[in-house]
Amino acid sequence: MQLVFATNNLNKLKEVQSLIPDHIKLLSLKAIGCFEDVPETQLTIEGNAIQKAEYIKEHYGYDCFADDTGLEVEVLHNEPGVFSARYAGEQRNANDNMDLLLKKLEDKPNRTARFKTVIALHLNGKLETFTGICKGEITKTKQGEKGFGYDPIFKAEGYDKTFAEISLDEKNRIGHRGKAVKLLVEFLSSLR
Ligand code: IMP
Repeated sequence: MQLVFATNNLNKLKEVQSLIPDHIKLLSLKAIGCFEDVPETQLTIEGNAIQKAEYIKEHYGYDCFADDTGLEVEVLHNEPGVFSARYAGEQRNANDNMDLLLKKLEDKPNRTARFKTVIALHLNGKLETFTGICKGEITKTKQGEKGFGYDPIFKAEGYDKTFAEISLDEKNRIGHRGKAVKLLVEFLSSLR
């Protein structure tokens, strides 16, 4: 079976391919001749994941899954959420995004936050979603060099290191994306 993963991030593609059953071959957007920006104009993380998966099915005819992730900060009413990538502006700069968030939380004792990943799968005419959540808190300063995005200012519950200070293996094990992928893989594996 062939299934499109609506991403151009080859690392993500390889990672997921290594986890799913061998009889399912993942195709990137490039592999199906999709070189356009797939629209993500919804106001929720779920909405964006579903929009991307449906767009590929509708315009390219392939069964497909797509992911979308955001950081939800409790005291900011779940900001930046769906706007995580462009929180401080269209330049989509991780440092600017973190600086803005740290500033907004400057005088806030409640630093509870969570990462949320939703994967939407469009398969055999049906839509399924898989959600992975990682609870934690926003630190007061940036710590660590690994990872990307908000990793230097996010500590998972029970950890005294940020996501930018732990290994990728560990982050995948406890992280939002890893959990959502695990649910997807379980679903795909159960189809046989
Ligand atoms: P995407 O949906 O995977 O493109 O993620 C949207 C935005 O959320 C990214 O640009 C990052 O700012 C943030 N983000 C997503 N996943 C992570 C993560 O694992 N660590 C830190 N930031 C993340």
